[in-house]
Amino acid sequence: MNIERLVLGGERTAATDGKTFQVIEPGTGKPFAEVAQASVADADQAVQVAYRTFEEGVWPRMRATARGRILLHASNLVRERLETIATIEARNAGKPIRDARGEISLVAAVLEYWGGAANKIFGETIPVQDAGLEVTLREPVGVCALITPWNFPLVIASWKIAPALACGNTIVVKPAQLTPLSVLLLADILMEAGLPPGVISILPGPGAAVGNALAKNPLVSKVSFTGSTGVGTQIMRLCADNITRVSLELGGKAANIVFADAGIERCVESSVFSVFGNTGQDCCARSRLLVERPAYDEFVERFSRRAAGLRVGDPLSEQTELGPMISAGQRQRSLDYIAIGRQEGATLVGSGGSVPAIAGGEEGFYLQPAVLTNVKNAMRVAQDEIFGPVVCVMPFDSEEEALRIANDTPYGLAGSVWTRDLGRGIRVARGLRAGVISVNSSHSVHTEAPFGGYKRSGIGREMGMHAAQLYTEVKSIFFSQE
Ligand code: NAP
Ligand code: MG
Repeated sequence: MNIERLVLGGERTAATDGKTFQVIEPGTGKPFAEVAQASVADADQAVQVAYRTFEEGVWPRMRATARGRILLHASNLVRERLETIATIEARNAGKPIRDARGEISLVAAVLEYWGGAANKIFGETIPVQDAGLEVTLREPVGVCALITPWNFPLVIASWKIAPALACGNTIVVKPAQLTPLSVLLLADILMEAGLPPGVISILPGPGAAVGNALAKNPLVSKVSFTGSTGVGTQIMRLCADNITRVSLELGGKAANIVFADAGIERCVESSVFSVFGNTGQDCCARSRLLVERPAYDEFVERFSRRAAGLRVGDPLSEQTELGPMISAGQRQRSLDYIAIGRQEGATLVGSGGSVPAIAGGEEGFYLQPAVLTNVKNAMRVAQDEIFGPVVCVMPFDSEEEALRIANDTPYGLAGSVWTRDLGRGIRVARGLRAGVISVNSSHSVHTEAPFGGYKRSGIGREMGMHAAQLYTEVKSIFFSQE
């Protein structure tokens, strides 16, 4: 097996201590790549390089249009190599290849968006009291540490990398150890597209060592993290010591609210994928399904039938709808929660929640999606983020009750409402205490629109022009005319 080297200041290199680790393919449970394992020393060195590069100023002072062109070039290269990158992502993260292709085209779109946006990030002129001209500048913050998870490895990395670069920052990326491969390829592409030396480092390595070292390094000006609320809390504490800017995209427990007038046919299919897509490993997963009582029986029956029929299997098969989970540990977590739910009084529908026999994938981390009914929102299965293919179904009798249940959670990332009544759609969308809502759709993640959570789901908004706020400082300059 070739060793995938890490990226330090734009160059591929071994870890200083020569350590490597194996990446497992979730579909087979077997090693699939060997990757250089960054250490705390590598993290410190990468930050030094990023800091020096920022201070030297070639990248932050490059004309914004020129920076944008590099991102546009990278976007084109990602499109040209889409099949290769998608295949690696599918194998490494256990995603159906069709989904992986969609994700990699999204990465190209994100790079394209920020390539175009680079020269549209500007300040204001403000009519102040004093005689003169008051203007604001948007300047890059400096070294950005970008810590990313394994569920949408390259998509989430691109949401951070593209705006951070467009704004003129230098970056150090810490991908999840489970899925480091695609972002290493993206770094190669960015270098090929003309990114100057020193601007990007990619450090696969354990979060508790490498991520921690990045978050507490005083030369890091900004940390952007996506992952669990627990680790997010620790990172925010580390950032407090140096007043490091921090944005967090954390867990979720989104409600999917279906009113009886919604038109069951059209929302069953979408609702099934809104929770089971990516095998439920999605912070936006609509893992609480709230159905208005008159439609409850029919909806749950159709939903469960479609869930049971989902084609679980080999990520590289064009027919596959759900791949394996990322690891044996994540699968066990879902199995444990299904057991907890049943002890709490929930009912498991049909043969969901079982481990399917997949030819050639006997050691893979497969799990049949599970539908739990007779759930009360106070149960642990309805409160905790399971992060697997498990949905909690609950009936409701009124708009007020639906909102009360939906908002009775420590999280506030996403939510959906299905109704033909426009007024009700607006009221419920406004009533939900969550950052991204879809009405008569499950799609609430758009390259051009802000994405982020209320409550314990995080701080800050990625995507769209809102993300430029995360990666710029505002400087106010007053020119006296006296
Ligand atoms: P996690 O531990 O929060 O991992 C996210 C990233 O943070 C990874 O790159 C991880 O590195 C790194 N990390 C871990 N500990 C760290 C520390 N002390 N300091 C700095 N960085 C650190 O998430 P997980 O363990 O993979 O998954 C656990 C749960 O998190 C899931 O079940 C789910 O509930 C939630 N989750 C949420 C999202 C989301 O999109 N919001 C994504 C993934 C997971 P390593 O993993 O390489 O050590
Ligand atoms: Mg962890």
